[in-house]
Amino acid sequence: MKWRCGVCGYIHDGEKAPDKCPKCGAPKEQFSKIEGDAAELIEKSRKTNEMHVAIMGLYSKVQKWAKIVKNEDLDPTCVQIADRVLKDTNETIQSIKAELETHMKKGKWG
Ligand SMILES: [Zn+2]
Repeated sequence: MKWRCGVCGYIHDGEKAPDKCPKCGAPKEQFSKIEGDAAELIEKSRKTNEMHVAIMGLYSKVQKWAKIVKNEDLDPTCVQIADRVLKDTNETIQSIKAELETHMKKGKWG
């Protein structure tokens, strides 16, 4: 079962609403039950958010490597690949950031 805080939008998973909202401190009377499709949608968007966060973490590691290769400046082909990796991962990271911002505005972030 899921419960949403009417004050800050925090989502609680559990049989009952929490006594107090861990995010804003609102009492349990402020919580309302989320049912059916709405609850399912939250689960789905949690997975999407997790994927986005995982990709960003991975890409920032990849970027670290690409920068190391670039700084070594040995093989021009390797440097070219590193440049391409930096460009591609940057574009994807920017899109993910924009997408996550949209999620947060829509309150899709649990
Ligand atoms: Zn709250």
